[in-house]
Amino acid sequence: MKTVSVIVDLPTRQTNQPFTYAIPDDLLDFDLLGHRVRVPFGRRFLMGYVVAVDEKPAGDFQLKTIESIVDKQPILNHEMLALSDWLARYVFSYRVQVIQAMLPNAFKPRYLKGLKIVGDVSKELRQTIFLGNDEIEFLAKNYDPQQTAMINELIRQGKIVQTTTIEKKNKAKTVKVLSAKLSAGELSELLKSRRRSEAQKKLLIFLADHENAFFQSKELADILGISVSTIATAEKNNWLEKSQMPLTRNPVKNISVKKTEAVKLTADQQSVFDQLLASITKGENKTFLLEGITGSGKTEVYLQLIEKTIAEGKTALLLVPEIALTPQMIRRVKARFLDSVALIHSGLSDGQRLDQWEEIRDGKIKIVIGTRSAVFSPLSNIGLIIIDEEHETNYKQEDNPRYHARDVALWRAKYHKAVTLLGSATPSLESRARAQKGLFQLLTMKHRAVSGAVLPKVSIVDMREVWQRQHTDSDFSPELLDAIKQRQLNHEQSILLLNRRGFSSFVMCRNCGYVPHCPNCNVSLTLHMDSHSLNCHYCGYEEAIPNTCPVCGSHQIRYVGTGTEKVAAKLNSLITGIKLVRLDQDTTRKKGSLEKILSDFAARKYDVLLGTQMVAKGLDFPDVTLVGVINADVGLNLPDYRSGEKTFELLTQVAGRAGRDQKTGEVIIQSFNPDNYAIKLAADQNYEAFYKSEMLLRHLADYPPYFYTIQIAVSGPDQFLTSQAIDQVSAFIRPQLDPKTIVLGPTPKAIAKLRNRYYFQIILKYKADQNLENTLTSLQTDFAEKLSKNIYLSIDRDPVSFI
Ligand code: ADP
Ligand code: ZN
Ligand code: ZN
Repeated sequence: MKTVSVIVDLPTRQTNQPFTYAIPDDLLDFDLLGHRVRVPFGRRFLMGYVVAVDEKPAGDFQLKTIESIVDKQPILNHEMLALSDWLARYVFSYRVQVIQAMLPNAFKPRYLKGLKIVGDVSKELRQTIFLGNDEIEFLAKNYDPQQTAMINELIRQGKIVQTTTIEKKNKAKTVKVLSAKLSAGELSELLKSRRRSEAQKKLLIFLADHENAFFQSKELADILGISVSTIATAEKNNWLEKSQMPLTRNPVKNISVKKTEAVKLTADQQSVFDQLLASITKGENKTFLLEGITGSGKTEVYLQLIEKTIAEGKTALLLVPEIALTPQMIRRVKARFLDSVALIHSGLSDGQRLDQWEEIRDGKIKIVIGTRSAVFSPLSNIGLIIIDEEHETNYKQEDNPRYHARDVALWRAKYHKAVTLLGSATPSLESRARAQKGLFQLLTMKHRAVSGAVLPKVSIVDMREVWQRQHTDSDFSPELLDAIKQRQLNHEQSILLLNRRGFSSFVMCRNCGYVPHCPNCNVSLTLHMDSHSLNCHYCGYEEAIPNTCPVCGSHQIRYVGTGTEKVAAKLNSLITGIKLVRLDQDTTRKKGSLEKILSDFAARKYDVLLGTQMVAKGLDFPDVTLVGVINADVGLNLPDYRSGEKTFELLTQVAGRAGRDQKTGEVIIQSFNPDNYAIKLAADQNYEAFYKSEMLLRHLADYPPYFYTIQIAVSGPDQFLTSQAIDQVSAFIRPQLDPKTIVLGPTPKAIAKLRNRYYFQIILKYKADQNLENTLTSLQTDFAEKLSKNIYLSIDRDPVSFI
């Protein structure tokens, strides 16, 4: 007897396993694998995914039967089924959550409640409540109490029942199209009539020539130079037949660019390219780490490799960390491959995303560029996966399922026997260490691609000294100020970085040091100048800025922190006539504003581009000869073992924006910790030296990449019960783990209270632990079963931070 295993669309502990269903007769000959199906579950219907088709010996047990299939085509292929199975176990997530993360949102079902007549009901009720139908959608708010009582009574009597249906959201947007309704012969016959106008004749001749083609009315009118009303008449005369065609909404189509061609590679690039191409052509499953300094031409290598991969008849996937950080990259990809690229990111509408997904699945699109979730694009026959800026933490999803795009990419590359290319000027320590061990092949590019372009000259300004010298707390050292003035005189440009990692503006009492905190979360409130309020970034709590200190009564409540707005005003007052534009979250909120700021800056409308992290990455402007870092230290002291790595990365990346063309660049880093190794080595732009120092520190403290880490967190509304729960977790796992596995905690998390919930954590550090996965899986199932209802447990493999 043929049966199917179905994962139902209900992310709970109890339903995190396949359920077996019988197949109805009319679907017996149909390959159900990967299909969405509607299945009875308890007293209702749920949507589910067929993850296996099995042959079961006919038994006398009573199996429930699939009710219907949802789509004409399966939506999960073999690869996706296997991937979801592996990934769910790897990241300790429910399989259905992984499946949902892999698919476009439009596939997520919405359940509609309905009422259905099954017995004898009065004609009047049928009219008033059911509007003449047998079944209606049920929205409780549409009925008055009397009607509600009546409905409940009829349900009790078994005359009507409640139903649930799955809403079909994935309707592609369609347009009306026209095609010839008559045969060519019939059309020619019509042409003979003497009553035909010129316009009608044109139309008939055209239709006879294009028998099976479809046109929109306006399009047809434009092609033939006739009026839309002629076409409407033709439709009325039954010459034309109308139908609906799906309209695809491809976001890349709106980016207009001039096509570019491959350029001759530099010696560095050529050597890297040759090695990768050899692997792609051979169909080797191999991973390369490309460590190329900023401006070494990594993007050009990507583009040429993609071109070759497509020429081999394979497909290619290019991942970027964040769309906002990579507008120039997307333009370059689009300029090379025009409309054969799909762009996938979280800013797309559900409809756009679905369209792209279908085009990729149907093999119409062979190149995909996108952010984290694009790693699940349903490409077949993948030849090459590129992860640009592979060190970026955006590749890790912070919520369930907590997957890392790199892990998924490596899995898929293995499945397709494909090449993975990880690119960065500052590789993550994990990847660089794997290259050291020979798991990845290390490739390097040590020179800038543009001939004559060299790495910029970098100096560090000691701000402690500046403040002492000037007796002020200015944001600008005389050195930086002079350099900016110089560029203004020379008609060159500057980029200024205001580092705000893990940092926001807040208010503080200068008298007693009081800082307003959120009552629900233990974080300080962020100052918002535009709304003149203090807000909690976690829970949205808002209050007015106090005039007096609630603790000491002083009026000395002042703004702390450097916002781009304030720094911009300062610079405007210090240098007359300086033309400055800000690039931060505030100035780029409006759609298209990011593109506009960057294109205006490229068109030399401004002398200075001042911004947050957004200016640090990916930008390529030939006239930028100065980069200034206003505050290099922010982020150095976060309670995070990666803070050195993050600081090094940011400074190296931003320094890389200077002197990308013939003109030599200069970088000025202002710092209160000029002797810090991360800042010094970033100034030297010496990744390899940084890698060695940082590895030493990680080794001493048993951190990644020497150890893997897992964070187990428990949260709940009651502090005492939650802390008890984490102790139980600790007691549960400790005896089962390998003796060499290090258990840190339990401790409160760095942000111990969030949205009125208390958080506790345990950190595991391990090298090889045979028992770990089983222990954590049973922690998640058997153990978590016994936790009280509003206590949540989460497991994060390789967390990006412990905060
Ligand atoms: P990266 O991504 O490594 O920072 P890019 O790919 O942005 O570097 O290249 C830096 C600059 O060098 C760009 O302006 C690019 O157009 C140019 N470039 C890249 N490859 C070549 C080449 N082979 N010949 C000339 N210019 C090149
Ligand atoms: Zn005070
Ligand atoms: Zn809050």
